[in-house]
Amino acid sequence: MGVAMRVLVIEDEPPLAELIQSGLRAEGLLADAAARGEDALWMAAATPYDVICLDVNLPGMDGFETCRRLRDADVQVPILMLTARDAVQDRISGLETGADDYLVKPFDFGELVARLRALARRPPDRAPDRLVVGDLVLDPRAGTLTRAGTMIDLSVKELQILEVFMRNPGRVLTRLEILEGAWDEGYEHRSNVIDVYIRYLREKIDRPFDRSTLETVRGAGYRLRRDDPEGGGAEHPPR
Ligand code: CA
Repeated sequence: MGVAMRVLVIEDEPPLAELIQSGLRAEGLLADAAARGEDALWMAAATPYDVICLDVNLPGMDGFETCRRLRDADVQVPILMLTARDAVQDRISGLETGADDYLVKPFDFGELVARLRALARRPPDRAPDRLVVGDLVLDPRAGTLTRAGTMIDLSVKELQILEVFMRNPGRVLTRLEILEGAWDEGYEHRSNVIDVYIRYLREKIDRPFDRSTLETVRGAGYRLRRDDPEGGGAEHPPR
């Protein structure tokens, strides 16, 4: 389920790893972190990341070896290498082992985000400009939502959750599916947080329009109805 851009950060220095991870999250991206190349191998095999940010200087298996093994394991995700110094040999080695781009430390955070976004740029058919379900229109890139032409102000997290629903209109989604679609593993997985966000979303996308498109499906999860605006508000399913 493609939702927010998902990044794997492989960096062994905890302060820097945390800085990158929290910075990417503030940008609305999903970011997992690994401190060792060995961990990156199974994580990249288990999760469809959009881009990997890989430090060259890692204890044990270094960044070059990690990159080589990822490619050997047929992981085709774009890789941005972080090199510790402006060492030409590092850059050449990185690109030779299958990395797509590199950035020299210390780097500007805005530059890092721009490079990651450029590398992760998805093919057009996987990233439509706008998602349309009934009279809801969501533009993932611009981060905007309208209902019947009215702009609705949503937080980054609310948008990510609604995007999961809008990519699966009419389908019942379990709380786990919603968590996996809109959160990274750094989040403490408590399913009641989903219920809280569903309430927020209903207050913004349904109630002001006298609608009830975001339904509770008892014992299963939630569903965004493919709603016919003409019939909207006529039906009030149990919440
Ligand atoms: Ca390092």
